[in-house]
Amino acid sequence: MEFLRPATWDEALAAKAENPTALPIAGGTDVMVELNFDVHRPSAILDLNRVTELTEWTNDGAVVRLGASVPYARIIAELSGPLPGLALAARTVGSPQIRNRGGVGGNLGAASPAGDSHPALLAAGRDVFVEAASVRGTRMIPIDDFYLGVKRNCLAADELIRAVHVPVADGPQQFSKIGTRNAMVIAVCAFGFALHPKNGTVGTGIGSAAPTPRRAVEAEEYLRGVLTERGLWESGGPLGAEVVQRFGELVKAAASPIDDVRGTADYRRHALAVMARRTLTWCWNDYGRQIRSAA
Ligand SMILES: Cc1cc2nc3c(=O)[nH]c(=O)nc-3n(C[C@H](O)[C@H](O)[C@H](O)COP(=O)(O)OP(=O)(O)OC[C@H]3O[C@@H](n4cnc5c(N)ncnc54)[C@H](O)[C@@H]3O)c2cc1C
Repeated sequence: MEFLRPATWDEALAAKAENPTALPIAGGTDVMVELNFDVHRPSAILDLNRVTELTEWTNDGAVVRLGASVPYARIIAELSGPLPGLALAARTVGSPQIRNRGGVGGNLGAASPAGDSHPALLAAGRDVFVEAASVRGTRMIPIDDFYLGVKRNCLAADELIRAVHVPVADGPQQFSKIGTRNAMVIAVCAFGFALHPKNGTVGTGIGSAAPTPRRAVEAEEYLRGVLTERGLWESGGPLGAEVVQRFGELVKAAASPIDDVRGTADYRRHALAVMARRTLTWCWNDYGRQIRSAA
């Protein structure tokens, strides 16, 4: 097995173009497990750890450009303000050791439906883009188009993930995850939720309850309609139990989970409805407080 160690981003792209079957490695928290279990026998490993650009982020006030290899520990420490949903999701990943190594680029590269970044990225809105590059150029892939199937994404063989572009939060965001224990656990299912008062929309993301991470489109549309038609964006007034209940039901209906070792499909649907109601209630309470304190 060849081991390629580019020192720069351009060298990394050139190496990937020359060796399209080379397996990129960033934190290695997925790659090394799969190598140890002999899931893959790649012809070559492409080590991205010397490419320092991948561990940098920028914030222009509207969008955070998050380098693919910024580890979860730094997302929690440095980006909880602008990216609260993603930071909450990052807190639930693995253990301190895993959070020091693993990052969002690796989560996207692995494209597991159980990856914890995905519900938070989907909930962050429709303007989340994966910046993918090759020697042929750069393309900005909308997050909704990125996931193709179980552990499959839309990257071409010569492409690498450079960064993820995520709008700075303009309202409360939440993330909820159910596991078979409290830490070091793959999600039985997970849910991300965000309020976007600036454009009057809401965002959702379902994890581990369908072949790919996905949003609950009808639930988003229903809630957006209620908040707009009843003037709730302006008042921050109570939502009403029936709205919260209906939102939970629509999230549940958007999932298509399977029975597996971690949980049954029925349990996942039930849990999603509960998480949807809770995250909506938490966010709406925070939003109401913000509106009242600004008045
Ligand atoms: C003990 C343990 C606990 C874990 N717990 C969780 C958890 O709670 N939640 C969770 O979501 N995940 C968990 N994981 C999985 C893993 O930590 C995450 O998926 C993490 O985000 C992977 O990031 P990484 O940098 O280590 O990726 P790597 O292992 O380096 O790579 C993962 C995949 O992405 C590809 N890749 C990496 N960087 C790029 C790039 N720049 N461009 C293109 N492809 C790229 C690799 O080729 C590979 O296919 C756990 C893993 C372990 C071992």
